[in-house]
Amino acid sequence: MTHILRLLPQVDTLLSGEEMAGLAATYSRSEVADALRSELAALRAGIQSGAVHALPDFSGRAFADRISARLDARRRPNLVSLINATGIIVHTNLGRSRLAPEALAAIEAAGRDHTNLEMDLTTGKRGSRHAHVEQLICELTGSEAALVVNNCAAAVLLSLMATAQGRKVIASRGELIEIGGSFRLPDIIAQSGAVLKEVGATNKTRAADYADAVDDDTAVLLKSHTSNYQIVGFTAAPKREELAALARETRTIFMEDLGSGVLIDLSPYGLKDEPVVSDVIRSGADLVMFSGDKLLGGPQCGIIAGRADIVRSLKSHPLCRAVRIDKLSLAALEATLRLYRAPHDPFRRVPVLRAIAQTADELQARAQRLSGALTALGLGDVSAVPSTAYVGGGSLPQQTLDSCAVTVALPGMAPDMLAARLRGCRVPVIGRIRDERFLMDVRTLIDEDVPQIAAAFRTVTAT
Ligand SMILES: *Cc1c(COP(=O)(O)O)cnc(C)c1O
Repeated sequence: MTHILRLLPQVDTLLSGEEMAGLAATYSRSEVADALRSELAALRAGIQSGAVHALPDFSGRAFADRISARLDARRRPNLVSLINATGIIVHTNLGRSRLAPEALAAIEAAGRDHTNLEMDLTTGKRGSRHAHVEQLICELTGSEAALVVNNCAAAVLLSLMATAQGRKVIASRGELIEIGGSFRLPDIIAQSGAVLKEVGATNKTRAADYADAVDDDTAVLLKSHTSNYQIVGFTAAPKREELAALARETRTIFMEDLGSGVLIDLSPYGLKDEPVVSDVIRSGADLVMFSGDKLLGGPQCGIIAGRADIVRSLKSHPLCRAVRIDKLSLAALEATLRLYRAPHDPFRRVPVLRAIAQTADELQARAQRLSGALTALGLGDVSAVPSTAYVGGGSLPQQTLDSCAVTVALPGMAPDMLAARLRGCRVPVIGRIRDERFLMDVRTLIDEDVPQIAAAFRTVTAT
């Protein structure tokens, strides 16, 4: 083994060969050198692990092709489009919401052209970027005022910092959430400079617990949507109306972190645990925060809606500038919010809502089409089966939607190997593994994905 290791050539020696000089003319010399180093390192590892027993012909065509493939791969983008066949509609690892065509067009225009991002076209003077969406948000949520920042985590941080720095925030022990990607409410409260006062017990907190804890030093009564877990059994949480009344009485602010923030009732589709923003505002919340790219179906951003005096103080806080929304997201948000107004039907236009509103017939038809396309390849055992899809995005794991899926078992290929190969395709396909089979839930697919999935399976089985 050490014997062949010693025969591995130097990068410089290889670079002077004719094939490599040809590649260096297309790519740069340093890129070719990097590719050679990676290839030699892979060979060395292969020899050491015993997987490689002989050295390749370093001046041959096959070796040059391997280097060329490495160079090609380096030029391909790292962030690529893929197919979400997980059945998790708002999948944080897969980029959450897909945007509506109207939102994409708005992004393109805002990126291509100059815009009135911060100019009031009536006066010709400096305007506010917030003005483009504030009215729309107020209309859709029933709030007096609104503000949009980079994401919901920033919305919570800014709201607490501007209202409770150096003062107390009262929160229920059962609602001190952690959301994936290390958003921990107690940490955010600490970062804001406020002091957390936990009240109640893990399973039960009453309005009286908040009332007992309020003192002259209290700034905020905080409620948060326990979006990714549920406490079951004997539980109690104060009603919003009770906290709103207590806040009025004690001159504190009743604030709620809603997480997903749905703008229209999803209960007709079986999703009953997501509070509708306008209901929360109507119940008396002074300020609410929610994400733009979860169930709202827009770009990444955090929306803050509520009382005008509080929103005004948030807008003038120095942190507001540091967490402001960028122009592309702002353009996409405005376009998405407009789809919630007549004459549009958001359940037809906003992809996240479309995915939720699909009928059993639509799902079944897509599952049949996909299983037909894969069966036609004659690769293995393909079947269309019932499945369970999830809302995702930190929404309750119990918030499920009946769905349809296609499962595949290939002879001689374990499902995790199949999954790995599908991730390696030009358009990767991400699914789940269930009962030793690779499963693709069709709720998160669109019909255009079917031929792409078939192409991926063709690639995977050809190698
Ligand atoms: C998802 C979530 C957040 C964080 O939202 P981002 O937009 O990802 O920053 C905050 N609070 C709750 C309750 C959430 O569900």
